[in-house]
Amino acid sequence: MEENSGYIWPIEPKYKVAEHDKYGIRKNHYVLFKQRAHSGFDITADIGTKVHPISEGVVLLAEFDGTTTEGYDAFNDGYGNKVEILNDDGRRVVYGHLREFYVKPGDRVTKETIIGITGTSGGSRVPHLHLEIRKNNTEETGLKYTIDPLELLPKIDLKSLKEEFEEEPYASLWRILVSDNPWGFTKEDIPYSEDKNIIR
Ligand SMILES: [Zn+2]
Repeated sequence: MEENSGYIWPIEPKYKVAEHDKYGIRKNHYVLFKQRAHSGFDITADIGTKVHPISEGVVLLAEFDGTTTEGYDAFNDGYGNKVEILNDDGRRVVYGHLREFYVKPGDRVTKETIIGITGTSGGSRVPHLHLEIRKNNTEETGLKYTIDPLELLPKIDLKSLKEEFEEEPYASLWRILVSDNPWGFTKEDIPYSEDKNIIR
């Protein structure tokens, strides 16, 4: 069903979109190396790209989330530096893997506010913004509690995004993600895979 959410893109997408970026079930995950649900949409971005809220709202959280799951000690799987905003429409939105954030809980934000800059902190191995839209104001993640951001953001033709991401050491993994064998990566292909807590 079409909905006019009034949302904007938090950053302008420009790089090719990989299957790994999309909302839904990933056949392989580049931190956990197994099938896993993805509750958001990932927008590949140069480190340091300014991030805006998709809608007006109030900041609920701005903190480092370094969750490590499922015993993969070397593989931090968290959101990294994240900002969570309660939109005025009642949805909670998570902006993950930031390099830095510039807001604090209680701050009122508009679409003009710069809430932070993109990075690759937490469970990220290619610089990107993880955008997650929860159906309501819940701390729960997962497909049951979230909406595919592409259903709510201004429509774009993903195939029109053709730019190549070139910053090493991330670009070698990114090229696999956008290749004809997008799930064919192994631990050897993952930059900094032994580096547990570094914020990038
Ligand atoms: Zn993501």
